Amino acid sequence: MSEPFPPLPDEFVNRLGQIIPETQLASVLASFQQIKPTSFRLNSLKGNAENIKQQLMAEGFSLQPVSWFDQAFTIPDEQRRALTESDAFYQGEIYIQSLSSMLVPIVLAPQPGETVLDLAAAPGGKTLQMACMMSNQGALSAVEPVKNRFFKLKTNLEQQGASLVKTYLTDGRTVGGKCPERFDRVLLDAPCSSESRFSQLDPRSWNHWSIKKVKEVAKKQKKLLLSALYSLKPEGIMVYSTCSFSPEENELIVNHALKKFGPAIRVEPIQLPVNNIQHQMDSDIVQPGLIEWNKKSLHPDVINSIRILPNDIMDGFYLCKIKKLTSFK
Ligand code: SAM
Repeated sequence: MSEPFPPLPDEFVNRLGQIIPETQLASVLASFQQIKPTSFRLNSLKGNAENIKQQLMAEGFSLQPVSWFDQAFTIPDEQRRALTESDAFYQGEIYIQSLSSMLVPIVLAPQPGETVLDLAAAPGGKTLQMACMMSNQGALSAVEPVKNRFFKLKTNLEQQGASLVKTYLTDGRTVGGKCPERFDRVLLDAPCSSESRFSQLDPRSWNHWSIKKVKEVAKKQKKLLLSALYSLKPEGIMVYSTCSFSPEENELIVNHALKKFGPAIRVEPIQLPVNNIQHQMDSDIVQPGLIEWNKKSLHPDVINSIRILPNDIMDGFYLCKIKKLTSFK
């Protein structure tokens, strides 16, 4: 008989029960025991995407297309190691990235020629995806304060040919003050408690988790979101994202910004590329933002943010798209 999985922390599971609709809870809990396929993106900055794809197929990789993103594919987890030893990987022609993570730049939609900020960038998966979306045209600033992560970011950018990116080893909380109203679009993929990375196949994945840690990181997230909003031009768009489920790191952070800036910002509805694609992006896994937590009502517009619920393919993620309507000056 196989060993039972080690249980997730009780407090975490109880909280999930308050966050996630009852109908989805069992499949969300099951996802912590699943091995997902490996997903990756073709790097359009390095040669012809079709050629890279054909080469990988010729090498025996079983590529499955992702219906809502033509640059993305999945392969069975058993082929992951071989993929990391392939030429395409070493040449920076592909980037291994979770599908939920790929959704974030898609929602932000940076355009060639724009001035864009990635305020918490390492190791750079989303920076690289934005560089592809901008065809290396425009200005893309990537901020990371943790030294070893900063150098990993730089290596990845270089290897993948993202030449438009300028990197800054600095604390994102200082950027709004130093560069007010500078950017057309800002991505804040915030440092978080990484709850969606928990895996019952590796109990170390939740070793560092506690409610105290969630509350600690939330303080930083509040300051980072304010900094992101200060750095945005009027009419500019930003996306706030985390890979955590906790409302303290998600809806409450957005609620704090709405309270501070009032009608100068608006939480925009999110148009996902495709709904209802079975197993890839079923509408059942897209949950609107909570507007009440711990008996406290939140700003009603927070309902426009979304939580991607994890399943056998997607990881859990929280996304909020915010438009700055007027200057804060
Ligand atoms: N966007 C990245 C990607 O897609 O590859 C992942 C970013 S990760 C969720 C959050 C990053 O924020 C970490 O690299 C962390 O070191 C960094 N970070 C921590 N504190 C920060 C701060 N004060 N300002 C900016 N970034 C910070």
